[in-house]
Amino acid sequence: MRGARLLVVLFLLATSSSVLAATKAIKFGKLVDGTGRVYTNAVVIVEDDRVQNVASNASIPSGAEVIDLSRYTGLPGLIDGHTHITYYWDGITTPRYEPPRHPAITVFLAQENAQKALEAGVTTIRNLNAGDGTDLAMRDLVNMGKMIGPRMFVSGLGIRITRSTAPPAPVGIMADGVDAVIHAVRQVIASGADWVKMFGSTGGFDDVTEFQTFTFDEMKAAVDATHALGKKISIHSYGPAGARDAIRAGADSLEHATDMDDQTIAEMVNRKIYYVPTIDHNQYYVENADSVHHFPPGAKERLRDYIQRNFETAKKAFQAGARMVVGSDAVYAGWGLNMRELDWFVKMGMTPAQALKTATTEPAAMLGMEKSLGAVAPGFYADIVAVAGDPLADITAISNRENVRWVMRSGRVVVDKTSGTGR
Ligand SMILES: [Zn+2]
Repeated sequence: MRGARLLVVLFLLATSSSVLAATKAIKFGKLVDGTGRVYTNAVVIVEDDRVQNVASNASIPSGAEVIDLSRYTGLPGLIDGHTHITYYWDGITTPRYEPPRHPAITVFLAQENAQKALEAGVTTIRNLNAGDGTDLAMRDLVNMGKMIGPRMFVSGLGIRITRSTAPPAPVGIMADGVDAVIHAVRQVIASGADWVKMFGSTGGFDDVTEFQTFTFDEMKAAVDATHALGKKISIHSYGPAGARDAIRAGADSLEHATDMDDQTIAEMVNRKIYYVPTIDHNQYYVENADSVHHFPPGAKERLRDYIQRNFETAKKAFQAGARMVVGSDAVYAGWGLNMRELDWFVKMGMTPAQALKTATTEPAAMLGMEKSLGAVAPGFYADIVAVAGDPLADITAISNRENVRWVMRSGRVVVDKTSGTGR
């Protein structure tokens, strides 16, 4: 199975470079372009890595390679706003307690996560926290066309306060005090990171505690040092205190953030800070607590309680007009489930069209890529997904990865499950 998949990847690598320069005409029964427009009998013309034209019933340029996906609905490539692509699970050991690996091995193995992301329709990720430059290496290999995977925006090492050094050793830079935080931010950016990630509270894996870690002054210093160098910063907070100070400090995005009060939510809305609640992430942990992660007794109950409060907080934020982004927080066996977060968003009251924005135009704007990502439109990257079903009627056409039939990234077909399924 894995061997077959590898062969497919190698085949795509071998064939795509030779045909990349050709003009492609892709036909969809229906195309949801991401800007609010819906085309029937759409023809998308792709030139190299970009979309050249989109129209209904358009004539096909002579010599163009025709890809007939009329049975499917076309969509922009999906963006996952919060991932951990280098957290690889071998299917045997307990994640986080596996023997240490050389960084090059991690990069090689994490290609499986990259492939699973593509198969879920994810063509861009923002990856928040990775050790040893493994995320930077993957980003660069993907950009070089030498690794098949989603386009990556990465944070390198996350910034943490000093805490326990007991195993498993946390990935990140430990920094305490304003000066150390400024130094850490500059170090991360100098390493080549696109974003800075700061852990503003405890909480993660089976730990759902919400204690604030960095002070307001430390967060403000980190935000200012990041912005001074033209970058953006994401602050993790499981609880309300860290969230309040992250918002006051002017973070560009806020992760998790359960139990926020109305005032914090109002300020987040006013400042147009992106909120990435990552609700489904803990559902993944509940489902895999025993079989994969071997969490201690009581963990599932604590996680379920956290999920409920996380959902209620996110719902309040949505109703208050927050700019929300899908973040799977995908780790280990969670790769491929990246878009399940959309089900929670619809459950809290979003229409499928609103939910789709949280995986397309909103994260594209968060990344500063609103003119090249998040839509199927002239001049945009040819990141296009074909799904079975109508996602505007039923979001599971996207959130259930089984419905993703075909994926193009930067003009290259990277997933093709269109033959032999009868759908
Ligand atoms: Zn995370």
